[in-house]
Amino acid sequence: MTDRTPQLRDALTRLPSYAAGKPPVGATDLTPYKLSSNENPFGPLPGVMEAIVDAAGGMNRYPDPMSDRLAEALAERHGVTRDHVALGTGSVGILQQLVQITAGPGDEVLYAWRSFEAYPIMTIIAGATPVQVPLGPGHRHDLSAMADAITENTRLIMVCTPNNPTGSVVHQSELDEFLDRVPSNILVVIDEAYVEFDRDPLSVRGLDTYRNRPNVAVLRTFSKAYGLAGMRVGFCIAHTRVANALRQTQVPFGVSSLAQAAAIASINAENELMQRVDHLVAERHRVEAALAQEGWDLPPSQANFIWLPLGERIGEFVDICEQVNLSVRRYADDGVRVTIGETEANDRLLTLTRSFVPDARH
Ligand SMILES: *Cc1c(COP(=O)(O)O)cnc(C)c1O
Repeated sequence: MTDRTPQLRDALTRLPSYAAGKPPVGATDLTPYKLSSNENPFGPLPGVMEAIVDAAGGMNRYPDPMSDRLAEALAERHGVTRDHVALGTGSVGILQQLVQITAGPGDEVLYAWRSFEAYPIMTIIAGATPVQVPLGPGHRHDLSAMADAITENTRLIMVCTPNNPTGSVVHQSELDEFLDRVPSNILVVIDEAYVEFDRDPLSVRGLDTYRNRPNVAVLRTFSKAYGLAGMRVGFCIAHTRVANALRQTQVPFGVSSLAQAAAIASINAENELMQRVDHLVAERHRVEAALAQEGWDLPPSQANFIWLPLGERIGEFVDICEQVNLSVRRYADDGVRVTIGETEANDRLLTLTRSFVPDARH
């Protein structure tokens, strides 16, 4: 007997940990609100619930492995061919596959930083090298620095717009200029997890961009605007070779029959769901306007969250949030991301920010 344990890959020692948003601690008698994971505060629509309950009756069977009905509904919804649609267990599941099909040891995956925390994790799991280009002024993508960072080893570029966690967007003209500089053998994925919340007319239109460029793909999710975070379903729209590779590398039967049914029902209920999104966008405007009035100077958000670059006062701010039963998401010493949630939760945030020491405002 030795005390040796199974040998795992060295890459794992380089993994940052994914800090999922925590539920509120419940230290007071105030209703706790979770504003730390960018979830949709609205529960499922009755029709979506019904579709899930129906599908549950068949849970002794495996799901449709290719999610055909859902893929067809998405193809029709977005005006693309069915073979350009690949489904996955949340867009994070597809993200992992996108790295797997493009990059391994010695290859580079390029993205802005800060951006979505799953990018470095998936890159390192694949054994590839993350290349992080700091955000530029206004917490926005610095696409010209990103173009400069491309090397002969670059295999995948992630562009997150609206960006998680800063809420900033890339404009179409900026993206076009960038893409003109990217060699066409590098896959560029536009992560549009929050696109439904974006009201900036200059923003990137991922699907239009993909249509004109064979090396561009679009990543979307049902987790945020569609309120299905717990169901785990997302999709990628990509040209045939990439979409085929995604289908080849998917975990067999990954997207459950309940998730497929919920997503189809949600596409059919899109009008109603988008009214909820409009409501959340109005709440975002209300919160941003109130914070501006309080003297905060924050980057404008086009997503369902806001970004507070608090610097040194970050710990104090998070503590105060916890004291009033709001869980928010801290990013080391950079800032705090707060999801736009229930009206009462947003109100409570605004009460708290009003009393926060003014010199902590940037
Ligand atoms: C939330 C999020 C996703 C999607 O996650 P799912 O796996 O689909 O739940 C993808 N990209 C970004 C930037 C996100 O913030």
